Amino acid sequence: MKPFEYYSPQSVAEACALLAQLGSGAKILAGGTDVLVELRKSADDVASSIIDITGISSLKGIEESSNTIVIKPLTTHTEILRSALVGTYAPLLKTAVAGIGSPQIRNRGTIGGNIMNAAACADTVPPLIALGARIRLQSSTGDRTVALSEFFTKPYITVAQRGELLVEIRFPKLPSDARSSFMKLGRRNALSISRLSVAAILTRDQSGVLTDARIVPGASLPTWHRVSEAENLLIGHKPTRELFVEAGKKVSDIMISFTGRRWSTEYKEPVIAVLVRRALEECH
Ligand SMILES: Cc1cc2nc3c(=O)[nH]c(=O)nc-3n(C[C@H](O)[C@H](O)[C@H](O)COP(=O)(O)OP(=O)(O)OC[C@H]3O[C@@H](n4cnc5c(N)ncnc54)[C@H](O)[C@@H]3O)c2cc1C
Repeated sequence: MKPFEYYSPQSVAEACALLAQLGSGAKILAGGTDVLVELRKSADDVASSIIDITGISSLKGIEESSNTIVIKPLTTHTEILRSALVGTYAPLLKTAVAGIGSPQIRNRGTIGGNIMNAAACADTVPPLIALGARIRLQSSTGDRTVALSEFFTKPYITVAQRGELLVEIRFPKLPSDARSSFMKLGRRNALSISRLSVAAILTRDQSGVLTDARIVPGASLPTWHRVSEAENLLIGHKPTRELFVEAGKKVSDIMISFTGRRWSTEYKEPVIAVLVRRALEECH
């Protein structure tokens, strides 16, 4: 491992000042489950300074206001899994974190690290986009809020500027009549990275007609976003298996329109359609 300078700020202001002062060689360390892998590489662009933010208590915890849930970035996957607030108001996020890595990874890995690492297989991102999450980024010169759906430009690349720290993730509580699901498919049952995933939310009125539908596939499109073409097939109709099959097929078609046909398409085309159909059935 290449030697590096180690800093341990105790406040957001101190961390932002360090980021500004140390420039491009600096790297934030949260749980370290992605950063440590990187630090062990022998590449020239490996960080020369590590800013360990785990001592900043204001970046930990889950809070609620009247209709919003706020998750601070240092909250671990295990803490999210155990949160009654998340279980009640964002159950699909709870399902997603339950499947991340192993107990050891979930105990160390944070939601902030999962978002900022921006890997295509990041399991918290499809549910958060389906929930309409927004994130707050802070730097030494100010702060700004970005919709998570507009944060990623391609795998591992985001619109975050050098010097910006993720300080908050915020989303509206799911209404009590909404039903949600997260499904992921990996190469094995445990310690498995998503090959494909999907987050879905359905809401229906008293008569059973769908009034809202949200579908966000993971590890399928160049960046995560809701597939409105599939959602619109559902809204205004009573749910049926045929409708869910059609929505799954639509997501599959949209995926191929982005990726073209490649070696993995033979497998991914039917599988994403079935995952979407199953997620919608679970919501129903
Ligand atoms: C064996 C193994 C299995 C895994 N399985 C899964 C899985 O099933 N699903 C999945 O989604 N992921 C998985 N991961 C990836 C990883 O565990 C998660 O992405 C985790 O949430 C990363 O969080 P962290 O706190 O460890 O991030 P770190 O490694 O500390 O940081 C990750 C990145 O985010 C940046 N960062 C962290 N916090 C902030 C912040 N507040 N502001 C700005 N930048 C920040 C860091 O600089 C770094 O670039 C796995 C990893 C391993 C090693």
